[in-house]
Amino acid sequence: MHKDIKKKLRQIDIDHIWHPFTQMQEYAKEEPVVIEKAYDSFLVDIDGKKYIDGVSSLWVNVHGHRKKEIDKAIIKQIKKVSHTTLLGLSNTQAICLAKKLVDITPSNLKKVFFSDNGSTGMEIALKIAFQYWQQKGESQKNKFVSFAGGYHGDTLGAVSVGGMDVFHKKYKPLLFSSFKAPYPYCYRCSKTFRLCNMACLKKLESILERKHDKIIGVIIEPLVQGASGIVVAPKGFLKAVSKLCKKHEVLLIVDEVATGFGRTGKMFACEHEKVKPDIMVMSKGLTGGYLPLAATLTTEEIYKQFLGEHDEHKTFYHGHSYTGNSLACAAALANISIFEEDRVLESLAEKIEFLQVGLKGFNKLTHVGDIRQKGLIVGIELVENKDSRKRYSSGAQIGHKVILEARKRGLIIRPLEDVIVLLPPLSIRIKELSQILKITYDSIQAVTE
Ligand SMILES: *Cc1c(COP(=O)(O)O)cnc(C)c1O
Repeated sequence: MHKDIKKKLRQIDIDHIWHPFTQMQEYAKEEPVVIEKAYDSFLVDIDGKKYIDGVSSLWVNVHGHRKKEIDKAIIKQIKKVSHTTLLGLSNTQAICLAKKLVDITPSNLKKVFFSDNGSTGMEIALKIAFQYWQQKGESQKNKFVSFAGGYHGDTLGAVSVGGMDVFHKKYKPLLFSSFKAPYPYCYRCSKTFRLCNMACLKKLESILERKHDKIIGVIIEPLVQGASGIVVAPKGFLKAVSKLCKKHEVLLIVDEVATGFGRTGKMFACEHEKVKPDIMVMSKGLTGGYLPLAATLTTEEIYKQFLGEHDEHKTFYHGHSYTGNSLACAAALANISIFEEDRVLESLAEKIEFLQVGLKGFNKLTHVGDIRQKGLIVGIELVENKDSRKRYSSGAQIGHKVILEARKRGLIIRPLEDVIVLLPPLSIRIKELSQILKITYDSIQAVTE
């Protein structure tokens, strides 16, 4: 690419693109990295510089970029039709995908409502759950329980059940209220791990005991709370939450947007603890990281409450222009086939263990406070003082500095405040994992020591 064109691209980027979750005043000062192409686990920018895609293009990519089977499936579908509406009409790809999703999720989930991103998938879950109880004659049920630190997307319903103050506080006047329970963030808890007997569950239990007749359901990121800093729940927590929901007759809504499609080592995080949610939301990995698509799955029992004569108005009045998009569904079908054909889940154990062993070495670093891992999801929490667990001041932007350092060394990652996140595609090779570990280690050391 000619250098004038490169310069122009960078200038237009700064002049006209408002980047998500980005302080544009700072962004405009740094030379933008502009990606031109990608293959396998690598991204290539307009200068021809190659980077490892260490966060799977923000947690969406699964089998690598330019995966032949997915490329082919989309091209094949494009020659038939790209999009038709799912409002009162159907299409072959959405039908095949719905069946596939019902087959690979917990056996009680039977109905699939499509949308196009994690936030809308969650909005749909919230509206279905609310309307379900309304139509079942329990109209006093109008509050959700969600977790502190939770992240379910950026639309206002999803923000209402979110718990990340930095992102959410400003919008408070626009939000509906929900009950908040603590998520087990063991590193930041005053109780001694393993001796506490999951004391944090007590709060949830007490909310449910006192208020269950008002409560629609409990919303949880199963096993790992992602955006709050890769907070990994202790074994048994999800199962205990699920049991409490059953006991108090409230719905369990699991947000598998980040954890779905193999990230935790199993297809869905729920499987680790044999949990059967009433509603499950998936999106990020659904199309292998190719196209926007989400699905909200529910039980037959929930679905039944929406059936009735036209003038009873029990219909779920919700839908998006691109609901059930054929290209996205074709990509998702190819994505899931690869899991089966390449025995992807079986191949993960070795990679997960390699990461685990490699990460142990990070404890040597003076400012690594906590290392959390579930499957191929990793969070490395950096602290100013290891003994007191004191955080860096937010202005120090340690996380941001580390990822800029990593970028120089050929690795694209993105921090969550001062938690360095590693979340490579499932197709990552051991050799590349080893590079990711080395670059991350060196970058943390260079910035903090
Ligand atoms: C990313 C994410 C969402 C939101 O998905 P979008 O596609 O970005 O709207 C919701 N829940 C969780 C757990 C996520 O990680």
